[in-house]
Amino acid sequence: MAQRDPGGIFVRDCIVIGSGPAGYTAALYTARAQMHPLVFQGDEPGGQLTTTTEVENYPGFPEGILGPELMEAMERQASRFGAEIRFARVDRVDFTSYPLKVEAEGQVHEARAVIVATGASARLLGLESERRLIGRGVSTCATCDGAFFPEKELFVVGGGDSALEETLFLTRYARIVHVVHRRDRFRASKIMQQRAAENPKVDVLFNRVVEEILDGGTGRVTGVRLRDVVTGRVEERAADGVFIAIGHKPNTELFRGQVEMDERGYIRTFRGTATSRRGVFAAGDVADPVYRQAVTAAGSGCQAALDVERFLEGTAFQDWTTAEVLRQA
Ligand code: NAP
Repeated sequence: MAQRDPGGIFVRDCIVIGSGPAGYTAALYTARAQMHPLVFQGDEPGGQLTTTTEVENYPGFPEGILGPELMEAMERQASRFGAEIRFARVDRVDFTSYPLKVEAEGQVHEARAVIVATGASARLLGLESERRLIGRGVSTCATCDGAFFPEKELFVVGGGDSALEETLFLTRYARIVHVVHRRDRFRASKIMQQRAAENPKVDVLFNRVVEEILDGGTGRVTGVRLRDVVTGRVEERAADGVFIAIGHKPNTELFRGQVEMDERGYIRTFRGTATSRRGVFAAGDVADPVYRQAVTAAGSGCQAALDVERFLEGTAFQDWTTAEVLRQA
């Protein structure tokens, strides 16, 4: 670990790692409880909602709200109550000794409690061509890149809500958007399926997988090679852009060996938001493979803050030495 936090030879009550709905809600609650939280925003301040357009299912906004706007409001609200928010990435943590240590920008910060709220990131298909052409016609974020494709022919891969949301957004710009899904029915919610079916710019290609993204030697996407998983037929189609929307993986690399995780890398929580490590709590998508909504993330950010408060006051989690103890509770 590098030098200590020069701002103070003190141990903070609480550090929050992450700045999505879970992180900012945890920051808001811990700030209001006078814990003066230090919040590390990470590489993507505001998290996944900043790559979304309209959020229509966050309660309190009957007309919907833009994802980036919602996140800016959450940040301002946490700051207003004294959360110290830093645009910095955490490079290392050491939760094996107490106080807990969090290193960012070459400084080590110590805390009695840490709330991990680093969320999840977009998954990729794993094709070499996909990686090579990212930013050259391949994207994981329609909101970020859709406007670069006016009147173009686009492909979206995936069959969940994200895929259809991206598809519908892209129809604002594109001439046509083909949705490539590996099965014969969508996983997405009925309302999203209905909207896609009603949109004349949406073309659905079921039972198809993208075998290769083609660039014709130009260094930019020019087409896709699709395989029909039922007939085995392979075809090449012209394409100007390919948007990958096949789900997410938790951002937990930083915490390997520090807290227990499940086989997919989601952080395991035991009692409330408590992890296997004393003083470390997890909130939001980083610990939630099931619900993954902004409102559930915000809710668990609140729970984590309340859990931290009770832990620091000594009214809960006092028997917490190992995950075993929590598991038995
Ligand atoms: P998801 O529901 O897990 O869907 C992922 C999709 O990608 C599935 O259709 C899956 O196919 C497909 N897929 C996965 N790996 C693939 C691969 N290697 N090749 C081809 N296809 C692959 O993920 P999501 O759409 O990101 O949604 C995550 C959660 O957020 C869900 O609970 C969703 O409801 C929610 N969400 C809600 C909204 C909204 O309400 N506006 C918007 C976005 C997300 P299979 O179906 O065959 O498994």
